[in-house]
Amino acid sequence: MKPAPFDYTAPDSLDEVLAALAEHGDEAKILAGGQSLVPMMNFRLAQPSMLIDCNRLGDLDFIRADDGGLRIGAMTRVRSLERDARVASAAPLVSETVPYIAHPQIRNRGTVGGSLAHADPASELPVLALARGFRMRLQRIGSDRWVAAEDFFTGLLETALEPEEMLTEVAIPPMPANTGWAFTEIARRYGDYAQVGVAALVTIDGDVCTGARLVYLSVGDTPTAAPRAAELLRGERLTAESFAAAAEMAASNEMSPAGDIHASEAYKRHLARVLTVRALEKAARRARNGGAS
Ligand code: FAD
Repeated sequence: MKPAPFDYTAPDSLDEVLAALAEHGDEAKILAGGQSLVPMMNFRLAQPSMLIDCNRLGDLDFIRADDGGLRIGAMTRVRSLERDARVASAAPLVSETVPYIAHPQIRNRGTVGGSLAHADPASELPVLALARGFRMRLQRIGSDRWVAAEDFFTGLLETALEPEEMLTEVAIPPMPANTGWAFTEIARRYGDYAQVGVAALVTIDGDVCTGARLVYLSVGDTPTAAPRAAELLRGERLTAESFAAAAEMAASNEMSPAGDIHASEAYKRHLARVLTVRALEKAARRARNGGAS
């Protein structure tokens, strides 16, 4: 298939992009890495009449240290996250997870902003956004606002972005102290979208869990947090029993996976149980070892 006819512009500045978005509204689409949009256009699932190519916006391709956290420009390639020492140090969960995204060729083109704006519930970056409390900067002419990840993902492939807005930047807060992290997923083949994946964060005081976070991919219309499972861990010693109880709570009560040709609903819940325990074990080990695996 070939895409429906469209007009094309490739502005040199953010101001010009925002002006084009203001002029064309929801008839326009931003072209970032094109790794999701172009296939959707070829299948005619997306038929923008105007394509605004943002690949000349070098100003939005950056990774900056920010008071213990990070600021990342929307046009930063996913591959850059994977290779950046500041990301490894300030956001190790991000470094650990990014290699699970597709193939290197796709990560070379795909952008941080594109993945978050596309809001595919099978994608890894939206899970990280929810797990680590990213904030998203949304800009349009006359408006510049920051939206928390929990308010950003509003439905299947839907976000808080208005038609005239562009996601321009992401802020990642510092890692909390005494916190271990882990990401794991199961995909049928290397590079495929995963059947289920989970990001876990565990904060400890001595042997006791003082806070946890569990966020899943591919178990609902949006990245899916499991706050009740995390709450079960708070105040508990980190044992196989407490991990199993949290996994059971999350898999049975806090997700609504749809079965598909690759995995039934029951199998996805089974994967969620198994992966939750694995991720919690690894996160707890890192919390105890000050980050060492
Ligand atoms: P584009 O495709 O250019 O845009 C995607 C959408 O977001 C479009 O609607 C576009 O208008 C909008 N958009 C883009 N940037 C912005 C912005 N800054 N502000 C507002 N709107 C914006 N992803 C995964 O997470 N995990 C995987 O395992 C995975 N596997 C893949 C396998 C294959 C074979 C392919 C082709 C893709 C796969 N992807 C996977 C998707 C890939 O990560 C995409 O790159 C990503 O989802 C979209 O990023 P992009 O920069 O290419 O965005």
